Amino acid sequence: MIQMGGAPRVRHAVIAIAIAAVLALITILRPLDITLWSLQSKLFSHEPSGEIVLVGEFNHTLDGSVESTNSLLLSALRKLEKSDVDQVVIDTPLRASGSAELDQSLRNAIDGLGDRVVIAAPVVDAANMAEIREANAPLFDGAAPVASSDFLTDFLGFVWNVGDSVEVEGRTYPAVWSVLSGSPTSVDVLHPDFTIDRESIPQIDISELAQGEARLIESFAGKKVLIGTLGGDDRRVRIPDNSEVFAGSAELHAIAAETALRMAGSGYTSIATLPFFGCLLLLLVLGRIPGRVRRAGYAIWFSMFVIGFVASAEMGLRVMLSEPLVLAFAFGIQRVIAHWRRRHLYTDPRSGLSNFVALQRDLEARDSLTDEVIVVTKIARLEAIFATVRGGEQGEYLRQIAGRLTLGEERSTIYHDGGKYLAMVLLKSDYPDLQGHLEGLRAVASQAVVIGDRTIDVAITVGVDQSSTGRPSNRISSAIAAADQAREAYRPVFVISDFETDSETWDYSLQSRLEAALSENRISIKLQPKVEMQSGLFVGAEALARWTDRERGEIPPNQFILQCERAGRLDDLTKRVMNRSFAASRELEQAGLPARISVNVSAIQFVDSRIVEWVEEAMVMTSVNPANVMIEITETARIDNARRARDVMERIKKLGVEFSIDDFGVGSGNLDALYNLPFDELKIDRMFTNTVAHGREARLITSSLMKLSRDLGLRSVAEGIDNLATFEMLRDMGGDLAQGYCIARPQTLPLLKETLRLQAQGGIARRT
Ligand code: C2E
Ligand code: MG
Ligand code: MG
Repeated sequence: MIQMGGAPRVRHAVIAIAIAAVLALITILRPLDITLWSLQSKLFSHEPSGEIVLVGEFNHTLDGSVESTNSLLLSALRKLEKSDVDQVVIDTPLRASGSAELDQSLRNAIDGLGDRVVIAAPVVDAANMAEIREANAPLFDGAAPVASSDFLTDFLGFVWNVGDSVEVEGRTYPAVWSVLSGSPTSVDVLHPDFTIDRESIPQIDISELAQGEARLIESFAGKKVLIGTLGGDDRRVRIPDNSEVFAGSAELHAIAAETALRMAGSGYTSIATLPFFGCLLLLLVLGRIPGRVRRAGYAIWFSMFVIGFVASAEMGLRVMLSEPLVLAFAFGIQRVIAHWRRRHLYTDPRSGLSNFVALQRDLEARDSLTDEVIVVTKIARLEAIFATVRGGEQGEYLRQIAGRLTLGEERSTIYHDGGKYLAMVLLKSDYPDLQGHLEGLRAVASQAVVIGDRTIDVAITVGVDQSSTGRPSNRISSAIAAADQAREAYRPVFVISDFETDSETWDYSLQSRLEAALSENRISIKLQPKVEMQSGLFVGAEALARWTDRERGEIPPNQFILQCERAGRLDDLTKRVMNRSFAASRELEQAGLPARISVNVSAIQFVDSRIVEWVEEAMVMTSVNPANVMIEITETARIDNARRARDVMERIKKLGVEFSIDDFGVGSGNLDALYNLPFDELKIDRMFTNTVAHGREARLITSSLMKLSRDLGLRSVAEGIDNLATFEMLRDMGGDLAQGYCIARPQTLPLLKETLRLQAQGGIARRT
């Protein structure tokens, strides 16, 4: 099951990884990364080191002329020269003003700072790498080493990475951030950490510095001062923290330098992140992991993603998480669709119950099926019931029956095949008396269902497969077959065990062998004598169909009659048995022996008048005396049109034939039929006759059935008597006729003739 269920999961994971990999290759997900990074920069706020001081023009004191800019810068540099400042980076264009004297003083001031000063300039034109932008006037050439204040913005104006140096025409210019921080991390490309609170970077207005109060000057000791662009525009970048536009290179490089000082700013592209998350996902779906553990694994997998997101924000690392995120989505969506499909695949829309596909899946998921018993309940006449019930009520009807089946087993699942079958799985070990339990359950479930103000009947049979072998699908089929085999009135709970699974009933070749037996006329009859109880005299016999198979020997009628019915060959069988029985009767009559013959005919054969023709034909062919013929109707409970059955019976009775109701008292032979149909004889089922010696109830029922048949003017036959004590008891109760192993077993015609002759000679007249 895990392997079967695992396959689509693996497929989904591989597809998701492939999608994410392709998207990573074409870098189409960068906007998503940018969004994620922007979110990350809002997550934390980190204090800058305070080592770097920004000097700028914040109070708008400059009038914009080069002269005023240069003179302010000059004053500021002179103050700085006197301080113990560690480093000064001048990131403002040094232009020539009108006054050569002023410019020379500025140059001198720069020189005065010695190796503590660096001039920053955009070394590379963003559009043309080879072109150095000459921002500074020639006078300032060589005044100090030049650092690159370059940066690249993305299409939204954000800066996500800055190189540590720039090489132009063979010369290497270190980046401003790298000069400011002393490059404590050895990264080639630094990813500015925008969680650093840029507003906390110490900032001083250039005019304040130029005035230079002593305390202020002292505070520069050991600091790195970055003088940003003065009196003019600069390229601007957006800062993701609040998307606010701010003056470019100086502030950006200050943040980058702070990032380096935090030892942050490393980057991990999807080349690292995608394989990491992809492999973890594959481990989860490939392993033979129980469902619950795997779901926990998914949760951990996703929380690793969330943790990665938060942790990289905290640590100032730039991690590309868009591909893993897409991976999670692509996988998740496929799984959700698969689940949704499965939910629909595994539920029956009408009843809302799990269907048989789900049953098979659940059985396959079990480690072994040795203790499992599959119980299938078949609802009789469901189509007819549904023809009169509205759609919503149909589901209600099914659910109510299903609810009753779970009585005492609330946790068990009831499956519905969409038609007339419900199924459940029980454990053999839980039910020492499984048959008894199911019979009780059937009785409960067979109570009429009330929907709204309507009462709807329920008739069910139960089939059980309790074989210990066989695949789930075979076992489900076998339980369904058992439910079909079960007879509502006669044997409502039908259990199939291993023994039966490979016996004739379930042998698929049975049908074809039965066909052959019928066509080769290998169906015979045995005759079981009936005696008159009071006199002990034989009066006739019942014909019982026999099939002797070449391989399996004699097959009991209980097994093959149903097969005949299913194969549509019951009529054929009945005609043959009738012909043979009538012929036997004729033979006995000619021999001067008791010749009354009873033939069994199933109630379902009284749905039309064809049986009338068969009886007539058999009579003509055998010249039997109609007065010797009796038809035993078996399974009278299956008559659903009593009027028609009655018509058919009346027509046969006109031929001189009598009728007997078979197996009376058990479910299949009922009062309903007795009331509606013109019977002449009542056969009390052996369930009662055979137990009169043991139980008061059986005695009471048997004697009242005898009285009932007397009162109705019928003859009673006590069948299935297999011991003398029972016979005597029944005789004393006033029974008319008797039949049973203790009187005589079903036998061949020649043997029966011998038996009857013996009696005629007085040999066994008083045998009983
Ligand atoms: P049934 O008509 O009630 O027949 C009586 C069954 O009880 C026969 O079983 C008979 O052998 C058996 N029996 C007789 N005496 C005793 C006894 O003392 N003890 C026990 N335990 N059993 C006894 P059989 O021959 O196996 O027939 C079973 C059923 O098959 C019959 O029940 C009848 O319903 C059906 N059947 C038999 N032949 C035909 C047929 O030609 N057509 C139809 N439609 N059904 C048939
Ligand atoms: Mg019978
Ligand atoms: Mg019977």
